[in-house]
Amino acid sequence: MKGRLEIIIGPMYSGKTEELIRRIIRRRIAKQEGLVFKPVIDTRDKSLVKSRAGTVIEAIPISQISDILKYIEKGKVNFISIDEIQFFSETIYDILENVLNKNIDVLSSGLNLDFKGEPFKSVEDLVIRADDITLLKAVCVVCGKDATRTQRLVLKNGNWLPASKRDDVILIDGSIESVKYEPRCRDCWEILD
Ligand SMILES: [Zn+2]
Repeated sequence: MKGRLEIIIGPMYSGKTEELIRRIIRRRIAKQEGLVFKPVIDTRDKSLVKSRAGTVIEAIPISQISDILKYIEKGKVNFISIDEIQFFSETIYDILENVLNKNIDVLSSGLNLDFKGEPFKSVEDLVIRADDITLLKAVCVVCGKDATRTQRLVLKNGNWLPASKRDDVILIDGSIESVKYEPRCRDCWEILD
């Protein structure tokens, strides 16, 4: 038997982590053994996966996806979960296929699109090969419709303006004070040249 690959995608504030934690808790109730991972680049609460709604679960921070392999060799594991997969490199499926081939289910979640409206290579790589895909929507902060996109806003001369296509996709701490994100629908989402 092989494991099953599940992926939860959506914009920021769509409840992806909360849904991931819900699935982990259900499996633990069913007495399944699992390991929870998160990318080390996600600096919020280093060894915790925390939803915005307040649910929390312990996690192993990893710097690359292949780190998972040494943890699953240590004992019997029914499933693994990985949050924020958009932070990993594009070759993520090859590694996870090794995990699936050991009859271990993989639960994953990540952003569907970056602030430019482009897919992340690692997320795209899993979505097209997944056995189950869940697209969560947030609420557009401008008009209240379902939001499937993440708006980046940049503070310039005291005004919050849409980010530019030329900006870097992943920002590391430092410039963070001048950037914020909002969920928006396709109509209200904006990008500058
Ligand atoms: Zn809208």
